[in-house]
Amino acid sequence: MHMLRVILPKRCVIVYLAAVICWRPADSSTGNDVIVTFEKISDNVTVYRIDGLQSTNITVLNTERGLVVIDSETSPVFARAIRDEIEKSHPGKKILYLINTHDHGDHTYGNQVFADAVIVGHEKCREKMIENRVRAGQTSARLSGAVKGLTARLETLDKNSDAAAELERAIAYYTSVAAGLGDGFSLTPPEVTFSDSLDLDLGDVHLVLTWFGYSHSPGDIIVFCPEEKLLVTGDIFYENNDLYLDSERIPFMDRWERMLVSVLADTGNIRTIIPGHGDPLPLMLLRDQLAFVREQQTRFAGKTSAFLTFKHTYETAGLTAGIRAMRILHADPAHYYFLHPEFDSYAYRLMNEDKLDDAQEMFTRLAGLFPESYIAFDSLGEVCLKKGDREKAKQYFSRSLELNPDNSNAERKLAQLQ
Ligand SMILES: [Zn+2]
Repeated sequence: MHMLRVILPKRCVIVYLAAVICWRPADSSTGNDVIVTFEKISDNVTVYRIDGLQSTNITVLNTERGLVVIDSETSPVFARAIRDEIEKSHPGKKILYLINTHDHGDHTYGNQVFADAVIVGHEKCREKMIENRVRAGQTSARLSGAVKGLTARLETLDKNSDAAAELERAIAYYTSVAAGLGDGFSLTPPEVTFSDSLDLDLGDVHLVLTWFGYSHSPGDIIVFCPEEKLLVTGDIFYENNDLYLDSERIPFMDRWERMLVSVLADTGNIRTIIPGHGDPLPLMLLRDQLAFVREQQTRFAGKTSAFLTFKHTYETAGLTAGIRAMRILHADPAHYYFLHPEFDSYAYRLMNEDKLDDAQEMFTRLAGLFPESYIAFDSLGEVCLKKGDREKAKQYFSRSLELNPDNSNAERKLAQLQ
């Protein structure tokens, strides 16, 4: 089950080809075949969106000194359409700043359209964008490939079905994104960066940009405008989703708690919370997240990551030492937290790197430690299949399906193996 191994946070355009988001526009106009909708939050705050699958919230503040734009959408074509709309509704106003809430493409690939403004982001936002520059340059080709796959799938569907309509919408959207990221696309990272927080004085209002700590991405920031009682949170929070936890993020929980406590210190200070996508968030969500973080702090307090300890052992001393460490770490819950999916993802990566024996050994041990885990058996099935052992693969997929009758991957693989 590949999808179970996606341990990256949600809603980034390149990963979620199948997501569909719908809403009723508050107002709309058309430009370059791209539909821009906008919603006025207050006299001086407007949120712009592109009518599409991902639709990032582009928050614009009209201040005494000029305009501040937060995030820039998935492609320069979308950013251009939004900028045209912003300029139409704020004639003669200069765009002073573009702020990136984090590095992901659906928030930054339109940056070049705002290159005349000062682009601001966390230092890790800039670092990540530069690190992923090559990958960003290949996005157009990758999306075009994905569109071909989706088009082939469309041909197998009933033309009048809802599924076909959804797929057509996805194809149109990704075709448009791919075109926008082709010739002329230029990755434009923030030039002004900060490590902890930054205060921007805009005359009648000011903005406080604060690093939240590694959560959705390494460089997530929250943007607070006290005068507008406005908080912009990028992709850190989603409704019905707790902050994501793994060995890299758990050490930031204390910082998350401090951030949430300071944001919630006087709830009278916040009127609107704009997330990276979708409708404004209720303040209650932040309270729930604070409660969640505090609960998790108790769970993980004083403990070390079993996964990182294992990984270090495996990478420096080899498989036998790694497996021994895995067993010892699992047996010591007082000192180590053992997050099974991290081990599973790592073994899966080994399998993809063709280290099949190591991957199989790890999956076997994981299945031993977690005999009720359908994921472990599904993975064992995968590795056996890759090694050409069809009989064993069948047994493992069957066991996985017994443990979880909804495991469609095992079901599909078994059908292929029959
Ligand atoms: Zn994101």
